[in-house]
Formats: sequence, structure tokens, C-alpha cells
Amino acid sequence: MVLLYVSTHFATGAALGKIAGSNWLALILGLSSHILLDVLPHHDYRGRRGIILDSLVTLALMLWLLPNPSYILWGAIGGAFPDLEVIINRVFFRGGGRRFFPSHSGILPHPSRVWPEGFIIQASIMVAALVFLLATLRVTAG
Ligand SMILES: [Zn+2]
Repeated sequence: MVLLYVSTHFATGAALGKIAGSNWLALILGLSSHILLDVLPHHDYRGRRGIILDSLVTLALMLWLLPNPSYILWGAIGGAFPDLEVIINRVFFRGGGRRFFPSHSGILPHPSRVWPEGFIIQASIMVAALVFLLATLRVTAG
């Protein structure tokens, strides 16, 4: 399975969306971050449990971000959107279908690391994005 956690992409895209401050720039930054994160060595979960947990975390993040300015969610969507082709490919083509996004198609590397090193990389990125969002959204709300 070659899938950086969707929730990590989503959180990072949201943080970049916050920085962007506009919907289009947020979407572009989110999409760009997807490539950079896929190229970093990372852990890829396997099986349905990972998919379900990752989806729940992503859904919780989305619900948390919804009341905020739309560009934050657009950044998050841009960050996570490319993995939709991986999920569709897995569900409908059992992983044998064609992928188009550069870090999924083989044009760019998508290096994997075993547990726990790869997970620590993912968790570090996620924590950094969440800390940034918590800090900046608190400032915005005040
Ligand atoms: Zn990806």
C-alpha cells in the first residue's frame, strides 16, 4: 500500500490553507504539499483497520475545521484529494488500475519506512500542523 496517511495530508493542507488566506492559493499549496509529503520516507498502513482509523481522524479534523474560514478547508482538500485516486484504485481495481498523480504513478519516488520510524515521521508532521492550527486559529478566534 502506498498511501501516506490521508489525515496527515489533510492536516498539513489545512495549515497551508491558513497561511494562504485565499481559496485558490490554499488549494494549490495543499496539492503541492501532497507531493512533498509523499516523497518523504513514511509509514504506510495496511488493511481496513488503518483505512477506517485514518478516515475517522480525517473526518474529525474536517468537522473541527468547518466553522473556520473556507480557505483552511480548501487547503486541506487540496492536501488530501490526490489520495482519492489511490482509494478508488484499491476499491474498484484491487490496486491494479492506473494512477496519474506524480507521486502515485512512479514518476516521483514514494519511499516507505517500517514501523515505528515511518510512523514517527508521519506523527511529527501531523503534530506540527495541528500545533500551528491550534495556535493560529485561537488567535483568529480572539
Ligand atoms: Zn499520496
